[in-house]
Amino acid sequence: MESVASSSTPHPHHHHRPRLTAAQSFSDRIIRAVRHRLRLLHRSGSLFFVLGATGNVYTVNLSAAVSCSCPDRATPCKHIIFVFIRALALPLDDPCLSRRTLRPCQLRRLLSLPTAADSLATATLRDRFHQISAQARAGGGRIPRPPTVVPEEGAACPVCLEEMGREERVVSCGACKNVIHEECFLAWKRSCRRRSATCVLCRARWRSGGDDPDKYLNLSAYVNEEDMVEDGGCT
Ligand SMILES: [Zn+2]
Ligand SMILES: [Zn+2]
Ligand SMILES: [Zn+2]
Repeated sequence: MESVASSSTPHPHHHHRPRLTAAQSFSDRIIRAVRHRLRLLHRSGSLFFVLGATGNVYTVNLSAAVSCSCPDRATPCKHIIFVFIRALALPLDDPCLSRRTLRPCQLRRLLSLPTAADSLATATLRDRFHQISAQARAGGGRIPRPPTVVPEEGAACPVCLEEMGREERVVSCGACKNVIHEECFLAWKRSCRRRSATCVLCRARWRSGGDDPDKYLNLSAYVNEEDMVEDGGCT
C-alpha cells in the first residue's frame, strides 16, 4: 500500500532522501515566515496580532511559554518566527528564536524592542482590525459575523435532522449552500480531526458560505489582492 514508487512525482533519490532534521525544519519555517506576506496588525503588551496569508488574524503571546493561536503544532510556528525576526527584527542567531520558554529578563528585553515599521500592515488594515476587534469586545468577545445565514422555514439540519429555528446559530456550505446547525457542524469538524473538514452533504472541502464558525477574526474582505500576493511560489 505504501509504495514509494507510486508517488505521482518521481523522485530519483527517494531511497536516500534524508529525514528532515529538527534544525532543517526550523530553518525551513524561518524561510516561510520571511517569504509569506505576514503582517503585524497590532501589538499590545505581550500580544502581537499577526495577519496571515489567508486573512486570518493570529495572536502570538510572548510570555514565559511563547504561544500562537494558529492550528500549526510546530513550535515556534511561522507567526512566532515572524514576530521575532520581522516585527522585532531579532538577528537570526538570537537564542530566543529557538526557545519554547523565555526567562523574565529575555521577555523584558523582547517586549522593550521597537516594532519594525516594515512589518506593519497598511494603516487601512490596522484601522479595520481595531474597528472589528472593538466590535468583538462590545459583543461579548464573539467575533462579529457578517451577513448571517438564515435557514428556510421548516428546513431540517442534515446532521441531527431537527428543524432549524430562525433563532438558532447555523452555517452554510460555500459549495452546495446547504444550511446546517453551527453546533452540528463543529461536532462534525471535530470528528474530522486533523483532516480538513468537508461538507456533510456534498463532501466539498468546507468553505463557509458567508458565516464562519471559526474562531479567527478574518480580514480577507479588506485585504486587496496586492496585499495578499506572496513573494515566492512557496506552499
Ligand atoms: Zn502561528
Ligand atoms: Zn443539527
Ligand atoms: Zn456542501
